[in-house]
Amino acid sequence: MNNIKIFPIQTNFINETADFIVTNYPSETSDFSRLAFVFEGKRPSLFLKKAIAKRIGGSFFPPVFFSIDEFISYLLSKNMSFENMPNMERWHIIYSLAKKIAPALIKGRTDFSNFLPWAMEIEHVIDLMDLENISDQEIENIEASACIGYEVPDTINILLKNIKDLRDLYHGQMNETKSFSKGFIYKKAMECSENIDFHEFDNIFFAGIFYAHKTVKIIIKNLLEQNKTQLIIHGNPSEWKSLGSLYSSFNITPLPIEDTRTEKKLPLIKLYTAFDTHSSIAIARDLAKKTVNPETTLILLPKPENMVPFVTELASIFESFNVSLGYPLNRSSFYSLIELIMKAQLTKKNKAYYVKDYLGVLRHALVKSLSIKKDYAITRIIVHKIEEASNGIFNSSFSGQIFINTESIENDDKLMTTILETLEHMGLTTSREDLTEVMRELHNLLFNLWENINSFYKFAGVIGIFVETFIQKGQLAWYPLNVKTAERLCEFKDEIENSSFSGEEFTKEDIFKIFINMFEHEISPFTGSPLKGVQVLGPLETRSLNFEHVIIMDANEGVFPRIRASSPLIPYEILKILGIDPRSRENEIQKYLFTRIVQSAKNIDIIYQKGADKERSRFLEELIWRAEQEKNALNVIPLQNVSFPARYSIKQNIVKKTRDITDFLKEFCYSVSSVNTYLKCPLMFYYKYVLGLKEKEELEDEPGGKEIGTFIHELLEYTFGMFKNKKPVLNDEFKLFFFRAFDTMFHKVFESRMASSAFLLKKIIQYRLQEFLKYESVRIVREILYLEKKFKEELFFNGVKFNFKYIVDRVDALEDGSILILDYKTGLDAVKPKENASLETMPMDRLSIKKNIRSFQLPVYYYFEKKKYPSTQVNAAFYSLRRPKLTYLIEKNTDIDFTIKQSMNALEFILNEITSHETDFCNISKDEEECSYCPFNSFCG
Ligand code: SF4
Repeated sequence: MNNIKIFPIQTNFINETADFIVTNYPSETSDFSRLAFVFEGKRPSLFLKKAIAKRIGGSFFPPVFFSIDEFISYLLSKNMSFENMPNMERWHIIYSLAKKIAPALIKGRTDFSNFLPWAMEIEHVIDLMDLENISDQEIENIEASACIGYEVPDTINILLKNIKDLRDLYHGQMNETKSFSKGFIYKKAMECSENIDFHEFDNIFFAGIFYAHKTVKIIIKNLLEQNKTQLIIHGNPSEWKSLGSLYSSFNITPLPIEDTRTEKKLPLIKLYTAFDTHSSIAIARDLAKKTVNPETTLILLPKPENMVPFVTELASIFESFNVSLGYPLNRSSFYSLIELIMKAQLTKKNKAYYVKDYLGVLRHALVKSLSIKKDYAITRIIVHKIEEASNGIFNSSFSGQIFINTESIENDDKLMTTILETLEHMGLTTSREDLTEVMRELHNLLFNLWENINSFYKFAGVIGIFVETFIQKGQLAWYPLNVKTAERLCEFKDEIENSSFSGEEFTKEDIFKIFINMFEHEISPFTGSPLKGVQVLGPLETRSLNFEHVIIMDANEGVFPRIRASSPLIPYEILKILGIDPRSRENEIQKYLFTRIVQSAKNIDIIYQKGADKERSRFLEELIWRAEQEKNALNVIPLQNVSFPARYSIKQNIVKKTRDITDFLKEFCYSVSSVNTYLKCPLMFYYKYVLGLKEKEELEDEPGGKEIGTFIHELLEYTFGMFKNKKPVLNDEFKLFFFRAFDTMFHKVFESRMASSAFLLKKIIQYRLQEFLKYESVRIVREILYLEKKFKEELFFNGVKFNFKYIVDRVDALEDGSILILDYKTGLDAVKPKENASLETMPMDRLSIKKNIRSFQLPVYYYFEKKKYPSTQVNAAFYSLRRPKLTYLIEKNTDIDFTIKQSMNALEFILNEITSHETDFCNISKDEEECSYCPFNSFCG
């Protein structure tokens, strides 16, 4: 039959098709608009248009292009008007019908939310039956067997017994409402395809179709008989079951292709092993960097989850590239925010929110970037300060509470004052009223709005307001996936608002459950500018396209091919009896996609992950085997070695000092920590002390080092308090008192929230404290002078005053009359200045000071305390509580005066630099090690 044209799989399908069209359908007016092309997807049409334009060398009227779904809908619309039925409506109809005709089926799952997974599956199976035009007789045979009983759970037998009635009634409802499922559209189109007139086209080409549902085969057969249809196939039908079956449905036996191009050898193949996602992305990025012609390069991404990290890498290499693949919308950050909001609603008690879930919502990046009043920095600061207040960093009416009420937050005076002060430091003046308004709007949008949902109609309203607000005031556009999610949410809102069940009453929990269930299956066709630069495509998006250089990522079993379980409800054997075999169909489609793309390329780089639980893709194994057969030798495809020099990359940032900032810095009360922070990184100082941003304090179940440190400091202050101005006597009585206090405080701080896992932590701390007491018992102390004492001082350098504050953990008067300042260390962080020899040659600049002084802590303590005891010998030391040990500032033969003089000179230099209008806050000499642990690296990244 000359209505079928075959191109060998090794050829470039688009180029061959363009040549064929231009040669066989010449048009003086360059008018191809009476030709229609039906491809499996949408993308090939753009490439074909470009290829035709190249051959014609001027403007032309292009053919009319359809995807297969579009063509089937077009065909049916010539016969009747109809619309697509939304998913939720379809599932609800199945639920209602099952409730009516097969109540045993919904037993134990009477609510829509509980039955939803079943409704989805049943609808999916009916859709498959429609697509494959399964007859009533075939279903009746299955039902008859089900009456005898398949060896499956009873409920499945009940479903099989009722499947025909369910399908009939479902069809009836769709006919009544003229609102159809995909399968029903195909079925109806097939039924009327014999008599449809396509007078608007001279020829309809079905191009690059590989697998066709039975309904499509019948449609093509009917159109072939009208003699205005051609099939253009890519690949040999005698080698591919799906192509062969396409042929046989027209009663043609496929013949081998007589084309010398089938002789083409395999392309140049290189293999790369990665050990995880990051390394496979890094390999792909480096290979993409070396590509000679980006326009003919494909990066095949079988795992949509890798799209975001990979695109981030690619953006640093190419100005333009195209990404096109189906991406799960429930991975977008906008969706994750909705999930957090739902969680907060479900853990709410009366009017109060569980603090962890409340903060989880507020901390979301999209919330912090909402511009409710002028600047989104206001929202960001509000969120930070609420978090700090809640974690007890400063006192508020809701500090430390497990459940919090939004109203009490809005009315908290201390919180408002702190926010206003921070904003003022940042040069953002706003009124208290405005601030309250922003806070109320935040609470309304993220919490109050979601409180009274009891129907899908109300839920639709909430989704509408929510999305609208984020479109107007948020930063959704920064991230295309969020825009896609917002679009889908708007569609979803319309669908459920107009659904037949929108007014029915549901619990909020059920509505959320249904929504999450539905969104789990939402895939967005993510498309960029299709004809520009390197193409990053999912396997399905490569249909009918070919490239010279191909980089395939994740060539592992379970990824490529990724075969989904066909239907958890209908046993696989039964589907096969019905002629539906999704599993082998999927496998063949993916193998075809792999083979097409590999065989028509010139260079292929294939990356796969290696590991105990990771196997190479069966397609790759077959390719290797073919290459070995071709060369009649083993290991003919070289495995490339790659290494990764790890670098932490942070942008260079500079913050100019305004007059307000320098005024603020001149009045600022410095501490050892703030100056040490500046030494580490001036930008870090800016974020922390000028903007007042604080590292996030998570309310974790497991306490962190900082929390344990605070606990030990408090315990030591309380227990050693009895020895203030006295000689400490660590006898049995004291030890009893000490560990009783430890028990009580530990229970209060940790045990109540950690339950059984507190046991180990308690044992560790207890052991360390026992060791500390042992060490402490042999130290000869005459008197404890202070414990945890706060001081405020004034430092004068060249007549310029600097405010300074410090807290000393403990000061002892020793037996020899000297004074010892102690700083307890529960962690590892204890550094003192280098030897005097280094300090002597130290240039006065920040980096040299950082390298030599390292920390101002002990010199500053010494400096201030020495002033109180001018004629007494003073020393300072870090007291490690991990392994009891003292690290003294002054070792034997140290010229302490010189150490302190150089340290104070360095402090003067640093304070002058901080307050100088001439020096900006910048990270030019950033320390990558520092950056990798810095809580502000997202600001610098
Ligand atoms: S990420 Fe690096 S450069 Fe940025 S503030 Fe932190 S330490 Fe400084």
